[in-house]
Amino acid sequence: MSDNLQKNNLRRVVVDRKPRIIEGLAKLHGKHLKISDYYGENVFDFRVVKGLSEKIKREMLECIRAGMVIPREYVDLVADAAKEWAIGKGATHFCHWFQPLTGYSAEKQDSFLTLTKDNGPIEELSASALIQGEPDASSFPHGGARTTFEARGYTIWDLTSPMFLREEGNGKILCIPTAFVSYNGEALDVKTPLLRSVSKLSEEAVKFFNLVGDMDVNHVTVTCGAEQEYFLIDKAFYYERPDLVMTGRTLLGSMAAKNQQLSDHYFGQVTERVIAFMQELDHEMYRLGIPSKTRHNEVAPGQFEVAQIFRDANLASDNNQIVMALIGNIAEKHDMVALLHEKPFSGINGSGKHLNWSLSDNLGRNLLDPGDEPQRNHVFLAICSIVVEAFNRHSELLRTSIATHGNDHRLGGHEAPPSIMSVFLGETLDKIYKSILKGDTFKPLDNNQLDLRANQLASLLKDNTDRNRTSPFAFTGNRFEFRAVGSSQPIGFPLSILNAAVTDVLKQSCEIIEKELNTGKKVDDALLTVIRGWMENSSKVVFNGDGYSDDWVKEAGIRGLPNLKTSADAYPVLTDGQKTSFLVETGVFSRKELETRYNVLVERYNTCRLIEFKTMVSMIDQYVIPSGIQYKKGLLDILKLQDELEVDRCVEFDIYCKLTGYMDELHRKTCDLKKELAEMVEDESKRSFHVAHKLVPLSEQIACLCDSVEDVIPDELWKLPKYFDMLFLR
Ligand code: ADP
Ligand code: MG
Repeated sequence: MSDNLQKNNLRRVVVDRKPRIIEGLAKLHGKHLKISDYYGENVFDFRVVKGLSEKIKREMLECIRAGMVIPREYVDLVADAAKEWAIGKGATHFCHWFQPLTGYSAEKQDSFLTLTKDNGPIEELSASALIQGEPDASSFPHGGARTTFEARGYTIWDLTSPMFLREEGNGKILCIPTAFVSYNGEALDVKTPLLRSVSKLSEEAVKFFNLVGDMDVNHVTVTCGAEQEYFLIDKAFYYERPDLVMTGRTLLGSMAAKNQQLSDHYFGQVTERVIAFMQELDHEMYRLGIPSKTRHNEVAPGQFEVAQIFRDANLASDNNQIVMALIGNIAEKHDMVALLHEKPFSGINGSGKHLNWSLSDNLGRNLLDPGDEPQRNHVFLAICSIVVEAFNRHSELLRTSIATHGNDHRLGGHEAPPSIMSVFLGETLDKIYKSILKGDTFKPLDNNQLDLRANQLASLLKDNTDRNRTSPFAFTGNRFEFRAVGSSQPIGFPLSILNAAVTDVLKQSCEIIEKELNTGKKVDDALLTVIRGWMENSSKVVFNGDGYSDDWVKEAGIRGLPNLKTSADAYPVLTDGQKTSFLVETGVFSRKELETRYNVLVERYNTCRLIEFKTMVSMIDQYVIPSGIQYKKGLLDILKLQDELEVDRCVEFDIYCKLTGYMDELHRKTCDLKKELAEMVEDESKRSFHVAHKLVPLSEQIACLCDSVEDVIPDELWKLPKYFDMLFLR
């Protein structure tokens, strides 16, 4: 009875919550501010600040571009300007902000305080403190890259990502984006390989353009826009679910009768409590110079998305890291908890992070924009075919780049593309390539206007691609969208691999073009040779049908496409000398760094899974079995009474037998799992396979049995918040 009361109270508390309305938000002296009035107010970018002369800015940018050392006196000036700006805004501390291989950002804070010779307190940020830090970093994952006696790690200022001010608790901190490397210069982070990959790609792309006669191109940027999905649940329920607190997802839980069948949540009106959250989130993003653009409900109940205007990949990657942290912090202020896990609830959609990817040159042209007549645009068709071939050639490694224990639940689920990597091109492009391969010239589709049969609506130019949502890598009109990326993972890793893959094929394309031109061919014909070569080679990876269907899995098998179903199957690709040689050749990763990543990922996978198993076992012991026993006791009392009174027993006995059946099996399987956990093999690699192929399936069977028990037990005896609570009460 008291349990029931407690649960009902919890529901009351949640239902009665009011939206968090912040009176002064985006206002000054009571007057509304425009976004542009406060956009970027918490960002310090030396490229645009007022206190620094244009000459210095120009020279510094030139140094960055050429990879030269920046004169110390310039760094002094920047450090001083940054400090003045930050303390003017109330900051007391600064930190080197970096992304180790934990999946989160990390930092070590230092105050600006220094003492003068005669012990007077002053504020200071020296050039050396700006450029380089030396966190005692021995406890960050390094996968064997550092022995403990040599555990030094360095953080190094990334000049291409602006500093920003974080407001937290009772103060403000100036965050300096940095790379994190070992004593020997090995990358221990996500950023370093990403920076290498964008430079390398630019180098090869410039070569490509100069070869085809476009001499004005001297720099190519990777552009990226990440669409971040997440769930929001009330914090009262969250803290009553040990699985959510410990692992970020529900390890058991019976589906509510209504979930997403009606698709009524997708793009539905956002409730007031959630919109208040989204407004605060956007507001903070704007202040941090993060160009938030789109916000909406996603498919599953309680699921939402935020997307920003695309920008250079390194910045987009840093921004996404900040956005994930912001979502979590702001949700708490609204008495909610944000779940960034790829699959917080089984049976409904999980969360991904669509990575929109393109290239843009120094003239501001999007290199994946087909223009009005794509069939004439040989350069566009060549670049596009290069990306397709890159995906084809390095599909296994790209699969590996998105492999996490969380994403394993999502890939191949009903909402996400399978672990088979394929490319969607859409009808128009597909036809163009096919006709090129046949040697024909392509006739454009004559009617690009979409007939909506409603004259009140402005006529729309039909997208040259339809929207295929089931492909892991889709061309969407003027960019590619890598959809298999998980919601919680830093985007830097998949971005580095994708960039390196494209660089690899670009490099080879340049060689082909050069050869063709040397034999006296025209540029367009040389480009056609490239297009034909790559499209012929990669035809097996192009798939325009339904990627969620079982037929596709069969078809992909016939085509010989790899299907690395679990992360454990995917990680070993990182240690395959042949499959990773392009990463070493392009200089994006060294062999040692790949080994590091392999070790870190496998260990992380195993650790996360073991935490899940242990949490599951404990929840069964603490909640599921005791609730079952309690209900059985009540049923036995009635059965005994019925026997004494000699009345018919029917329902009670039925329920009793059913419940006993489930509980017995649950108990048996849980004992099996406990035994397995006590006898785990030491070797991390062997362990990951055992976990992925034996223990995860076993835990899924156990979860099903828990759900059967939950379905039988009355609500008042079930102590854990249910899917119904978490997904629908807000
Ligand atoms: P959809 O729901 O159709 O995927 P959204 O508007 O939610 O569209 O997201 C599209 C994302 O693609 C945005 O983040 C946008 O900035 C990004 N994007 C658009 N053009 C490019 C481009 N050229 N390069 C990289 N990203 C892009
Ligand atoms: Mg979207």
